Amino acid sequence: MKNLSFAGKKVLVRVDFNVPMNTDFQITDDTRIRAALPTIMHILNGEGAVILLSHLGRPLKKRLPDGSINRETFTLKHLVNHLSELTGTDVKFASDCIGSEAQSKAAQLQPREVLLLENTRFHEGEEKGDPDMAKKLADLGDIYINDAFGTAHRAHASTAIIAQYFAPDKRAFGFLMDAELNNAAKTMDHPERPLVAIVGGAKVSDKILLLDNLLEKVDGLIIGGGMAYTFIQAQGGEIGNSLVEADRLDLARELIAKAKRKHVEFLLPVDSVIADSFSNDANIQVVPSAEIPTKWMGLDIGPEARSSFTKLILQARTILWNGPMGVFEMPAFAKGTLQVAQALAQATKQGAFTLVGGGDSVTAVNQMGLADEVSFVSTGGGAMLELLEGKVLPGVVAIRP
Ligand code: AMP
Repeated sequence: MKNLSFAGKKVLVRVDFNVPMNTDFQITDDTRIRAALPTIMHILNGEGAVILLSHLGRPLKKRLPDGSINRETFTLKHLVNHLSELTGTDVKFASDCIGSEAQSKAAQLQPREVLLLENTRFHEGEEKGDPDMAKKLADLGDIYINDAFGTAHRAHASTAIIAQYFAPDKRAFGFLMDAELNNAAKTMDHPERPLVAIVGGAKVSDKILLLDNLLEKVDGLIIGGGMAYTFIQAQGGEIGNSLVEADRLDLARELIAKAKRKHVEFLLPVDSVIADSFSNDANIQVVPSAEIPTKWMGLDIGPEARSSFTKLILQARTILWNGPMGVFEMPAFAKGTLQVAQALAQATKQGAFTLVGGGDSVTAVNQMGLADEVSFVSTGGGAMLELLEGKVLPGVVAIRP
Protein backbone atom coordinates (compact mmCIF):
# COMPACT_ATOMS: atom_id res chain seq x y z
CA MET A 1 0.00 0.00 0.00
CA LYS A 2 2.91 2.32 0.75
CA ASN A 3 3.92 2.23 -2.92
CA LEU A 4 0.52 3.18 -4.31
CA SER A 5 -0.47 6.68 -5.31
CA PHE A 6 -3.94 7.62 -4.12
CA ALA A 7 -4.20 11.18 -5.42
CA GLY A 8 -7.53 11.74 -7.15
CA LYS A 9 -8.48 8.08 -6.75
CA LYS A 10 -11.56 6.48 -5.22
CA VAL A 11 -10.22 3.86 -2.86
CA LEU A 12 -12.44 1.02 -1.69
CA VAL A 13 -11.24 -0.08 1.73
CA ARG A 14 -12.62 -3.27 3.30
CA VAL A 15 -12.40 -2.80 7.06
CA ASP A 16 -13.65 -4.82 10.01
CA PHE A 17 -15.96 -2.42 11.84
CA ASN A 18 -17.84 -5.25 13.53
CA VAL A 19 -17.76 -3.40 16.86
CA PRO A 20 -19.72 -4.16 20.03
CA MET A 21 -22.54 -1.74 20.90
CA ASN A 22 -24.88 -1.30 23.86
CA THR A 23 -28.67 -1.27 23.60
CA ASP A 24 -28.58 2.47 22.77
CA PHE A 25 -26.26 1.66 19.85
CA GLN A 26 -23.30 3.37 21.44
CA ILE A 27 -19.99 1.78 20.61
CA THR A 28 -18.58 0.09 23.72
CA ASP A 29 -15.17 -0.79 22.26
CA ASP A 30 -13.81 1.03 19.21
CA THR A 31 -10.52 -0.92 18.96
CA ARG A 32 -11.37 -2.23 15.50
CA ILE A 33 -12.17 1.22 14.15
CA ARG A 34 -8.97 2.69 15.58
CA ALA A 35 -6.99 -0.22 14.15
CA ALA A 36 -8.04 0.77 10.61
CA LEU A 37 -7.32 4.50 11.07
CA PRO A 38 -3.68 4.47 9.89
CA THR A 39 -4.82 3.02 6.54
CA ILE A 40 -7.73 5.45 6.17
CA MET A 41 -5.66 8.51 7.14
CA HIS A 42 -2.80 7.50 4.83
CA ILE A 43 -5.18 7.47 1.86
CA LEU A 44 -6.85 10.76 2.84
CA ASN A 45 -3.49 12.45 3.38
CA GLY A 46 -2.46 11.19 -0.06
CA GLU A 47 -5.43 13.11 -1.55
CA GLY A 48 -7.50 9.99 -2.12
CA ALA A 49 -11.22 9.51 -1.40
CA VAL A 50 -12.08 6.60 0.89
CA ILE A 51 -15.10 4.33 0.39
CA LEU A 52 -15.47 2.04 3.38
CA LEU A 53 -16.93 -1.47 3.22
CA SER A 54 -17.67 -3.50 6.33
CA HIS A 55 -20.01 -6.02 7.84
CA LEU A 56 -21.62 -5.69 11.27
CA GLY A 57 -22.86 -8.82 13.03
CA ARG A 58 -24.85 -11.52 11.26
CA PRO A 59 -28.05 -9.77 10.13
CA LEU A 60 -29.26 -12.62 7.89
CA LYS A 61 -29.02 -15.11 10.76
CA LYS A 62 -30.70 -12.80 13.27
CA ARG A 63 -33.79 -11.71 11.40
CA LEU A 64 -36.90 -10.16 12.94
CA PRO A 65 -39.85 -12.50 13.74
CA ASP A 66 -41.51 -11.61 10.39
CA GLY A 67 -38.38 -12.73 8.53
CA SER A 68 -37.18 -9.26 7.56
CA ILE A 69 -33.72 -7.91 8.26
CA ASN A 70 -33.29 -6.05 11.54
CA ARG A 71 -31.83 -2.96 9.92
CA GLU A 72 -32.04 -0.81 13.03
CA THR A 73 -29.75 -3.14 14.97
CA PHE A 74 -27.30 -3.95 12.23
CA THR A 75 -26.95 -0.65 10.38
CA LEU A 76 -23.48 0.84 10.12
CA LYS A 77 -25.10 4.26 10.40
CA HIS A 78 -24.51 3.95 14.16
CA LEU A 79 -20.80 4.41 13.44
CA VAL A 80 -20.97 7.60 11.36
CA ASN A 81 -20.60 10.14 14.18
CA HIS A 82 -17.75 8.38 15.92
CA LEU A 83 -15.95 7.77 12.65
CA SER A 84 -16.36 11.45 11.75
CA GLU A 85 -14.72 12.42 15.04
CA LEU A 86 -11.85 9.97 14.62
CA THR A 87 -11.09 10.95 11.03
CA GLY A 88 -11.79 14.67 11.45
CA THR A 89 -14.06 14.63 8.40
CA ASP A 90 -17.80 14.69 7.87
CA VAL A 91 -18.28 11.00 6.99
CA LYS A 92 -21.00 10.39 4.39
CA PHE A 93 -23.25 7.36 4.41
CA ALA A 94 -25.04 5.30 1.73
CA SER A 95 -27.97 3.21 2.94
CA ASP A 96 -27.10 0.28 0.67
CA CYS A 97 -23.61 -0.88 -0.29
CA ILE A 98 -24.63 -1.42 -3.93
CA GLY A 99 -27.22 0.27 -6.14
CA SER A 100 -27.87 3.80 -7.36
CA GLU A 101 -27.40 5.68 -4.05
CA ALA A 102 -23.98 4.10 -3.47
CA GLN A 103 -23.03 4.75 -7.11
CA SER A 104 -23.96 8.43 -7.08
CA LYS A 105 -22.44 9.12 -3.65
CA ALA A 106 -19.23 7.33 -4.67
CA ALA A 107 -19.12 9.27 -7.95
CA GLN A 108 -19.51 12.61 -6.15
CA LEU A 109 -16.95 11.86 -3.48
CA GLN A 110 -14.02 14.29 -3.44
CA PRO A 111 -10.40 13.76 -2.39
CA ARG A 112 -10.03 13.67 1.43
CA GLU A 113 -13.67 12.66 1.85
CA VAL A 114 -14.99 9.44 3.39
CA LEU A 115 -18.09 7.48 2.38
CA LEU A 116 -19.26 4.62 4.58
CA LEU A 117 -21.41 2.05 2.79
CA GLU A 118 -24.16 0.12 4.58
CA ASN A 119 -23.50 -3.37 6.05
CA THR A 120 -22.32 -5.70 3.29
CA ARG A 121 -24.07 -8.60 5.03
CA PHE A 122 -27.52 -7.15 4.30
CA HIS A 123 -27.04 -8.95 0.97
CA GLU A 124 -26.98 -12.74 0.71
CA GLY A 125 -24.30 -12.41 -1.95
CA GLU A 126 -21.74 -11.25 0.60
CA GLU A 127 -21.31 -14.48 2.55
CA LYS A 128 -21.91 -16.58 -0.58
CA GLY A 129 -19.00 -14.83 -2.29
CA ASP A 130 -21.26 -13.81 -5.17
CA PRO A 131 -19.13 -12.51 -8.09
CA ASP A 132 -21.99 -10.34 -9.27
CA MET A 133 -22.19 -8.47 -5.96
CA ALA A 134 -18.38 -8.28 -5.83
CA LYS A 135 -18.31 -6.71 -9.29
CA LYS A 136 -20.92 -4.11 -8.31
CA LEU A 137 -18.84 -3.16 -5.28
CA ALA A 138 -15.64 -3.12 -7.33
CA ASP A 139 -17.19 -0.73 -9.86
CA LEU A 140 -17.45 1.93 -7.13
CA GLY A 141 -13.68 2.45 -6.85
CA ASP A 142 -10.33 2.57 -8.66
CA ILE A 143 -8.23 0.80 -6.06
CA TYR A 144 -9.07 -1.95 -3.54
CA ILE A 145 -7.40 -2.14 -0.13
CA ASN A 146 -8.15 -5.01 2.24
CA ASP A 147 -7.54 -4.09 5.88
CA ALA A 148 -10.10 -6.49 7.38
CA PHE A 149 -7.85 -9.10 8.91
CA GLY A 150 -10.69 -10.31 11.16
CA THR A 151 -12.58 -11.64 8.12
CA ALA A 152 -9.60 -12.62 5.96
CA HIS A 153 -10.43 -16.31 6.51
CA ARG A 154 -13.76 -15.88 4.70
CA ALA A 155 -14.15 -16.00 0.92
CA HIS A 156 -16.86 -13.36 0.95
CA ALA A 157 -17.74 -10.96 -1.87
CA SER A 158 -16.18 -7.89 -0.22
CA THR A 159 -13.21 -9.63 1.45
CA ALA A 160 -11.84 -11.85 -1.33
CA ILE A 161 -13.91 -12.17 -4.52
CA ILE A 162 -13.86 -8.42 -5.20
CA ALA A 163 -10.04 -8.39 -5.54
CA GLN A 164 -10.12 -10.17 -8.91
CA TYR A 165 -11.66 -7.07 -10.48
CA PHE A 166 -8.54 -5.04 -9.71
CA ALA A 167 -5.17 -5.42 -11.43
CA PRO A 168 -2.32 -6.47 -9.10
CA ASP A 169 -1.07 -2.86 -8.96
CA LYS A 170 -4.54 -1.63 -8.01
CA ARG A 171 -5.03 -3.83 -4.95
CA ALA A 172 -3.10 -4.14 -1.70
CA PHE A 173 -3.22 -4.98 2.00
CA GLY A 174 -3.86 -2.15 4.42
CA PHE A 175 -1.42 -1.46 7.25
CA LEU A 176 -3.30 -3.54 9.84
CA MET A 177 -3.56 -6.56 7.57
CA ASP A 178 0.11 -6.18 6.69
CA ALA A 179 1.13 -6.05 10.35
CA GLU A 180 -0.96 -9.13 11.22
CA LEU A 181 0.52 -11.14 8.34
CA ASN A 182 4.08 -10.02 9.02
CA ASN A 183 3.86 -10.78 12.72
CA ALA A 184 2.37 -14.21 12.12
CA ALA A 185 5.18 -14.93 9.63
CA LYS A 186 7.78 -13.64 12.07
CA THR A 187 6.47 -16.15 14.61
CA MET A 188 5.82 -19.17 12.44
CA ASP A 189 8.10 -18.89 9.40
CA HIS A 190 11.30 -17.22 10.52
CA PRO A 191 11.31 -16.98 14.31
CA GLU A 192 14.31 -16.17 16.40
CA ARG A 193 14.80 -19.33 18.47
CA PRO A 194 13.89 -20.75 20.85
CA LEU A 195 10.25 -20.50 19.77
CA VAL A 196 7.75 -21.39 22.49
CA ALA A 197 3.97 -21.60 22.07
CA ILE A 198 1.46 -21.54 24.89
CA VAL A 199 -1.93 -22.99 24.05
CA GLY A 200 -4.89 -23.00 26.41
CA GLY A 201 -8.65 -22.71 26.36
CA ALA A 202 -11.44 -25.15 26.74
CA LYS A 203 -11.20 -27.78 24.05
CA VAL A 204 -8.50 -29.81 22.33
CA SER A 205 -10.87 -30.39 19.43
CA ASP A 206 -10.85 -26.66 18.55
CA LYS A 207 -7.06 -26.61 18.43
CA ILE A 208 -6.03 -29.91 16.81
CA LEU A 209 -4.75 -28.33 13.60
CA LEU A 210 -3.00 -25.60 15.58
CA LEU A 211 -1.22 -28.07 17.86
CA ASP A 212 -0.25 -30.30 14.97
CA ASN A 213 1.21 -27.40 13.00
CA LEU A 214 2.95 -25.94 16.05
CA LEU A 215 4.70 -29.24 16.69
CA GLU A 216 6.35 -28.87 13.28
CA LYS A 217 7.76 -25.48 14.22
CA VAL A 218 8.27 -24.89 17.94
CA ASP A 219 11.06 -25.72 20.36
CA GLY A 220 8.70 -25.72 23.33
CA LEU A 221 4.94 -26.23 23.68
CA ILE A 222 3.04 -25.37 26.85
CA ILE A 223 -0.51 -26.64 27.28
CA GLY A 224 -2.83 -25.15 29.90
CA GLY A 225 -6.53 -24.51 30.43
CA GLY A 226 -9.30 -27.07 30.25
CA MET A 227 -7.71 -28.86 27.30
CA ALA A 228 -4.76 -29.95 29.43
CA TYR A 229 -6.91 -32.52 31.25
CA THR A 230 -7.52 -34.55 28.10
CA PHE A 231 -3.74 -34.91 27.82
CA ILE A 232 -3.40 -35.75 31.51
CA GLN A 233 -6.09 -38.43 31.35
CA ALA A 234 -4.53 -39.80 28.14
CA GLN A 235 -1.37 -40.41 30.19
CA GLY A 236 -3.31 -42.28 32.85
CA GLY A 237 -3.92 -39.41 35.27
CA GLU A 238 -7.00 -39.08 37.50
CA ILE A 239 -8.74 -35.85 36.57
CA GLY A 240 -11.99 -36.04 38.57
CA ASN A 241 -14.70 -33.89 37.07
CA SER A 242 -12.36 -31.75 34.96
CA LEU A 243 -13.17 -30.95 31.37
CA VAL A 244 -12.26 -33.90 29.14
CA GLU A 245 -12.90 -34.94 25.57
CA ALA A 246 -13.05 -38.70 25.83
CA ASP A 247 -13.01 -39.09 22.04
CA ARG A 248 -9.71 -37.20 21.80
CA LEU A 249 -7.57 -39.34 24.11
CA ASP A 250 -5.85 -41.14 21.21
CA LEU A 251 -5.23 -37.84 19.51
CA ALA A 252 -3.69 -36.46 22.71
CA ARG A 253 -1.36 -39.49 22.89
CA GLU A 254 -0.38 -38.98 19.23
CA LEU A 255 0.43 -35.33 19.86
CA ILE A 256 2.56 -36.25 22.89
CA ALA A 257 4.40 -38.86 20.77
CA LYS A 258 4.91 -36.32 18.00
CA ALA A 259 6.38 -33.84 20.49
CA LYS A 260 8.88 -36.52 21.61
CA ARG A 261 9.78 -37.40 18.03
CA LYS A 262 10.35 -33.74 17.17
CA HIS A 263 12.31 -33.10 20.39
CA VAL A 264 9.85 -30.43 21.42
CA GLU A 265 9.87 -29.58 25.13
CA PHE A 266 6.26 -30.36 26.02
CA LEU A 267 4.86 -28.97 29.27
CA LEU A 268 1.56 -29.84 30.92
CA PRO A 269 0.54 -28.28 34.24
CA VAL A 270 2.03 -30.48 36.98
CA ASP A 271 -0.43 -29.08 39.48
CA SER A 272 -3.87 -27.52 39.34
CA VAL A 273 -6.15 -25.28 41.32
CA ILE A 274 -9.21 -27.49 41.76
CA ALA A 275 -12.72 -26.62 42.87
CA ASP A 276 -15.74 -28.58 44.09
CA SER A 277 -18.06 -26.59 41.80
CA PHE A 278 -17.81 -24.34 38.74
CA SER A 279 -18.05 -21.17 40.78
CA ASN A 280 -15.87 -18.35 42.03
CA ASP A 281 -17.05 -19.18 45.60
CA ALA A 282 -16.30 -22.90 45.38
CA ASN A 283 -14.00 -24.65 47.85
CA ILE A 284 -10.50 -24.68 46.44
CA GLN A 285 -7.35 -26.82 46.79
CA VAL A 286 -4.07 -27.24 44.96
CA VAL A 287 -3.20 -30.83 43.95
CA PRO A 288 -1.09 -32.63 41.34
CA SER A 289 -2.99 -32.48 38.03
CA ALA A 290 -2.92 -36.27 37.73
CA GLU A 291 -4.47 -36.78 41.18
CA ILE A 292 -7.69 -34.83 41.12
CA PRO A 293 -10.31 -36.38 43.44
CA THR A 294 -13.71 -37.40 42.07
CA LYS A 295 -16.24 -34.56 42.07
CA TRP A 296 -13.46 -31.94 41.94
CA MET A 297 -12.40 -30.16 38.76
CA GLY A 298 -9.25 -28.39 37.62
CA LEU A 299 -10.09 -24.77 36.84
CA ASP A 300 -6.62 -23.20 36.76
CA ILE A 301 -2.98 -24.21 36.62
CA GLY A 302 -1.30 -24.49 40.03
CA PRO A 303 1.72 -22.65 41.48
CA GLU A 304 4.31 -25.20 40.32
CA ALA A 305 2.90 -25.12 36.81
CA ARG A 306 2.92 -21.33 36.90
CA SER A 307 6.58 -21.27 37.73
CA SER A 308 7.66 -23.98 35.25
CA PHE A 309 5.67 -22.28 32.46
CA THR A 310 7.21 -18.91 33.37
CA LYS A 311 10.70 -20.41 33.31
CA LEU A 312 10.29 -21.82 29.80
CA ILE A 313 8.69 -18.59 28.57
CA LEU A 314 11.61 -16.52 29.85
CA GLN A 315 14.10 -18.73 27.99
CA ALA A 316 12.38 -18.11 24.64
CA ARG A 317 13.16 -15.46 22.03
CA THR A 318 9.82 -15.81 20.21
CA ILE A 319 6.58 -16.59 22.01
CA LEU A 320 3.09 -17.25 20.76
CA TRP A 321 0.10 -17.35 23.12
CA ASN A 322 -3.36 -18.65 22.23
CA GLY A 323 -5.96 -19.42 24.91
CA PRO A 324 -6.25 -18.87 28.67
CA MET A 325 -4.69 -21.11 31.34
CA GLY A 326 -7.88 -21.39 33.37
CA VAL A 327 -11.34 -19.98 33.87
CA PHE A 328 -9.86 -16.48 34.04
CA GLU A 329 -13.33 -14.89 33.94
CA MET A 330 -13.59 -15.86 37.64
CA PRO A 331 -10.96 -14.13 39.82
CA ALA A 332 -10.39 -17.31 41.84
CA PHE A 333 -9.06 -19.05 38.72
CA ALA A 334 -7.33 -16.16 36.93
CA LYS A 335 -3.87 -16.45 38.47
CA GLY A 336 -2.40 -18.82 35.88
CA THR A 337 -3.53 -16.68 32.97
CA LEU A 338 -2.33 -13.52 34.72
CA GLN A 339 1.10 -14.99 35.41
CA VAL A 340 1.51 -16.15 31.81
CA ALA A 341 0.54 -12.65 30.63
CA GLN A 342 3.09 -11.15 33.04
CA ALA A 343 5.76 -13.60 31.86
CA LEU A 344 5.11 -12.51 28.27
CA ALA A 345 5.44 -8.86 29.31
CA GLN A 346 8.74 -9.62 31.04
CA ALA A 347 10.02 -11.63 28.06
CA THR A 348 9.14 -8.68 25.80
CA LYS A 349 11.16 -6.34 28.04
CA GLN A 350 14.08 -8.75 27.68
CA GLY A 351 13.88 -8.43 23.90
CA ALA A 352 11.76 -11.44 22.95
CA PHE A 353 9.07 -11.11 20.26
CA THR A 354 5.67 -11.93 21.75
CA LEU A 355 2.45 -12.44 19.85
CA VAL A 356 -0.94 -12.89 21.47
CA GLY A 357 -3.33 -14.37 18.94
CA GLY A 358 -6.74 -15.88 19.47
CA GLY A 359 -9.91 -14.69 21.14
CA ASP A 360 -9.76 -15.29 24.86
CA SER A 361 -6.06 -14.69 25.48
CA VAL A 362 -6.54 -11.35 23.73
CA THR A 363 -9.42 -10.59 26.11
CA ALA A 364 -7.19 -11.63 29.01
CA VAL A 365 -4.22 -9.35 28.15
CA ASN A 366 -6.60 -6.46 27.55
CA GLN A 367 -8.41 -7.10 30.83
CA MET A 368 -5.12 -7.31 32.68
CA GLY A 369 -3.89 -4.06 31.15
CA LEU A 370 -0.86 -5.77 29.59
CA ALA A 371 -1.72 -5.34 25.89
CA ASP A 372 0.88 -2.58 25.47
CA GLU A 373 3.58 -4.68 27.11
CA VAL A 374 3.65 -7.47 24.54
CA SER A 375 4.94 -7.10 20.98
CA PHE A 376 1.67 -7.65 19.14
CA VAL A 377 -1.93 -8.43 19.98
CA SER A 378 -3.85 -9.81 17.02
CA THR A 379 -7.22 -8.30 16.11
CA GLY A 380 -8.46 -11.42 14.35
CA GLY A 381 -9.40 -14.46 16.43
CA GLY A 382 -10.52 -16.96 13.81
CA ALA A 383 -8.31 -15.52 11.07
CA MET A 384 -5.19 -15.64 13.25
CA LEU A 385 -5.99 -19.19 14.36
CA GLU A 386 -6.26 -20.32 10.72
CA LEU A 387 -3.02 -18.55 9.84
CA LEU A 388 -1.24 -20.27 12.73
CA GLU A 389 -2.73 -23.58 11.61
CA GLY A 390 -0.82 -23.06 8.37
CA LYS A 391 -3.91 -22.40 6.26
CA VAL A 392 -3.99 -20.04 3.32
CA LEU A 393 -6.55 -17.28 3.93
CA PRO A 394 -8.89 -16.41 1.02
CA GLY A 395 -8.60 -12.66 1.73
CA VAL A 396 -4.82 -12.95 1.52
CA VAL A 397 -4.43 -15.00 -1.68
CA ALA A 398 -6.97 -12.78 -3.41
CA ILE A 399 -4.49 -9.92 -3.08
CA ARG A 400 -1.24 -11.88 -3.26
CA PRO A 401 -1.79 -15.18 -5.15
P1 AMP B 1 -11.23 -21.15 23.99
O1 AMP B 1 -12.33 -20.32 23.40
O2 AMP B 1 -11.18 -22.56 23.50
O3 AMP B 1 -9.89 -20.45 23.94
O4 AMP B 1 -11.60 -21.33 25.50
C1 AMP B 1 -11.67 -20.26 26.39
C2 AMP B 1 -12.51 -20.66 27.55
O5 AMP B 1 -11.95 -21.79 28.18
C3 AMP B 1 -12.61 -19.58 28.59
O6 AMP B 1 -13.92 -19.14 28.65
C4 AMP B 1 -12.20 -20.29 29.87
O7 AMP B 1 -13.04 -20.00 30.94
C5 AMP B 1 -12.32 -21.75 29.53
N1 AMP B 1 -11.43 -22.57 30.34
C6 AMP B 1 -10.11 -22.41 30.52
N2 AMP B 1 -9.64 -23.32 31.38
C7 AMP B 1 -10.68 -24.08 31.77
C8 AMP B 1 -10.82 -25.19 32.66
N3 AMP B 1 -9.77 -25.68 33.33
N4 AMP B 1 -12.03 -25.74 32.81
C9 AMP B 1 -13.09 -25.23 32.13
N5 AMP B 1 -13.03 -24.19 31.28
C10 AMP B 1 -11.84 -23.62 31.11
